[in-house]
Amino acid sequence: MKNKQPHPTNNILYSSEDIRQRVDELIDEIASTCDTENLVVLGILRGSFIFLADLVRGFNRHKIHPRIDFITLSSYGAGTISSGKVKIIHDIDVDLKNADVVVVDDILDTGRTLQFARDLFIERGASSVRTCVLLDKKRERAVEMEADHAGFRIDDVFVVGYGLDHNNYYRELPHIAKLTFDTI
Ligand code: 5GP
Ligand code: MG
Repeated sequence: MKNKQPHPTNNILYSSEDIRQRVDELIDEIASTCDTENLVVLGILRGSFIFLADLVRGFNRHKIHPRIDFITLSSYGAGTISSGKVKIIHDIDVDLKNADVVVVDDILDTGRTLQFARDLFIERGASSVRTCVLLDKKRERAVEMEADHAGFRIDDVFVVGYGLDHNNYYRELPHIAKLTFDTI
């Protein structure tokens, strides 16, 4: 079957092995610094699904047994420029009272999505809310927001793979690649 989207394999920023190693470090970091007694891991869909799956499986070796849920937030629509307004497309279904939340997202860019999620979960009564992203873009944020845990700091380029998409393609790539728009 022919897939019209070219698959970026020559602009790899982080290989699957690079990601595996860094995610393992993040797991240890979270396990040693977060309250994990009543842990609820909340992933922001859709970009975080692979990262979150790797994180939570690593928690098992620390005997951490979180509840897990997802919220679908959207600020991008179909383009690559953030529209600025974050919307809840699909909400979580878990009571956050007394919960220690770790919010997981794929990438921190303008900061709006992660800030929106953190504020929402605090408002809903979580005891604590920590944030964890795989990628942290070096750029000026639109809002004041930094992640508590971040995998890699990257330049202000558009990346895909390991859950991150362009028009919902490329999420399955095991690596993180830079997307160059002259090829699509
Ligand atoms: P923010 O609200 O911080 O501007 O954006 C966060 C969201 O924008 C991320 O969850 C991600 O979905 C999307 N995003 C930002 N930068 C990139 C990028 O380089 N590649 C992809 N695929 N998505 C991005
Ligand atoms: Mg996202």
